[in-house]
Amino acid sequence: MDINYKEPAPITDRENPFESMMERFELAARILGLEDGAYQYLKNPTKQIITAIPIQMDDGKIKVFEGYRVIHNDVLGPSKGGLRFAPDVNLDEMKALAAWMTWKCAVVNIPFGGAKGGIVCDPDKLSLGELERLTRRFTANLLDVFGPERDIPAPDMNTNEQIMAWIMDTYSMHMKAAARAVVTGKPLILGGSLGRREATGRGVYIVTLAALRKRNMDPSRSSVVVQGFGNVGSVSADMLFKSGMKVLAIGDINGSIFSSRGLNIPDVMEYFNKNKVLTGFPESETISHEDLLEVKCDVLVPAAKEDQITKNNADKIRCKIVVEGANGPTSAKADPILQEKGILVVPDILANAGGVTVSYFEWVQDRMGYFWSIDKVNTRLERMMLEAFDNVFFHAERYKQTLRLGAYLLAIDKVAKTLKLRGIYA
Ligand code: GLU
Repeated sequence: MDINYKEPAPITDRENPFESMMERFELAARILGLEDGAYQYLKNPTKQIITAIPIQMDDGKIKVFEGYRVIHNDVLGPSKGGLRFAPDVNLDEMKALAAWMTWKCAVVNIPFGGAKGGIVCDPDKLSLGELERLTRRFTANLLDVFGPERDIPAPDMNTNEQIMAWIMDTYSMHMKAAARAVVTGKPLILGGSLGRREATGRGVYIVTLAALRKRNMDPSRSSVVVQGFGNVGSVSADMLFKSGMKVLAIGDINGSIFSSRGLNIPDVMEYFNKNKVLTGFPESETISHEDLLEVKCDVLVPAAKEDQITKNNADKIRCKIVVEGANGPTSAKADPILQEKGILVVPDILANAGGVTVSYFEWVQDRMGYFWSIDKVNTRLERMMLEAFDNVFFHAERYKQTLRLGAYLLAIDKVAKTLKLRGIYA
C-alpha cells in the first residue's frame, strides 16, 4: 500500500488544500503576467466526475460508494495521476491534487497533464473480494475516461499494484485487447517497471542531496527527520540513512520515535515489519506527532499527507531544509513563515515527482513492449530529477522567489505556452 491513509497529525489550520494550491497559482500567474484567458483556462479543472459505485458486499447487501476522477488539464498530453481510497477523500482535495499533478508533470518535463481520483471508503474494513469489486466497477464507470492516450491512473494512498492489476484487467476485458499502458504502478509481470515502487522515495533522496549541495552541507554531518513510514517515507529514510545522514526521528499515524544517536533504518524496517508500529523500537523514545515535526534537525521530510505544516506550527519548525515527500504538506499560510525563518523548502511538485517520472517510464516501456534494466530506470530518473531541480532553482533566482514559486512559475509558463500553441478548438 502507498503511504498511510489515516490522519497522521491532529494539527491543521483547516486550510483547504485547493485554496493553498490556488493561492500559489494566483501568485505565480500574477508574476508571469498570465493573460486572463489562459488564467481562466488553467484555473478550472477540465473535467470533474462524480460517480456512484454500487457493489454487492460479502453479506449479500448492496452498498453504494462515491468515487471521483478530476482531470485538471490535458494540454501537455494524456492526464496522469493516482487513485486514493480513504474515508476522507473529497472533491476539493481531488481538485487540488489533480492540479498539482499538472504542475508536477510540467516541472519534470514529462508529456502528461494532471488528474487525480479516489473512492470514499475505508479499505481496512473491506474484504479483498469487496475491494476488487469496488475497483472493477469504478473502472467500468470510467471506461470512457481512462485510456493509454486519455487518462492514466496510478497508485496513491491505500492503492497498490493489485488494484492497478484489476484496473488493467477490467479495461482490457472491455477493449478486448491487453491494454497495459492504461495504468502505471502495475505488478512487474503485467508490464510494471523496475524501480517504480521506490521511485517517489528515491526522488526525494535525489533532491535532498541536491539541496544539501546547494547549502554546502555534507550528508554525513547532517540530520534528518521523516514524517510518514509508507512507501515514500520508508524508502527516503532508508536511502538518506545509507547516504550517511543521521535519522533523528521518524513517525507514522500510530506513533513516532526519536533517538539523539540516530536510528538505524534497516533495523527500524525489520522491527516495523514484525510489529506494524514504530513505537517500542529498542533504544528510542516515543514522541508525539506534533513534537516529531518540531525536532531540531537539518532536513525535515514530511511524507504523510496534506496540511501538516500550517500557520499554527510553522514558527516552531527547527530545520534548515524542508523536502516535501507528500503532496501539499505545507499550507499556503505557512509558506511566508518558513521563508521568514530562512528555511529552504523543496516543494512537493518537484520533491515527490520521482513517482510520476517512473510512471512515465513504465508507460513508455509498455508502449514499446521492451523493458529497461533497473540501472537504466534509476539513471534516467536521477538525470530528470536533477534537471528539474536546476530548472526550478533557475526560475526561483530569475524571479527572486522561493523554490515553490519557482516551480509554479516554470510549470504554469510551460503549460500556458503549450496552450497558446495548441489554441482553442471551437
Ligand atoms: N500518486 C503519485 C503522485 O502523487 C504518482 C502518480 C502517477 O504516477 O501517476 O505523484
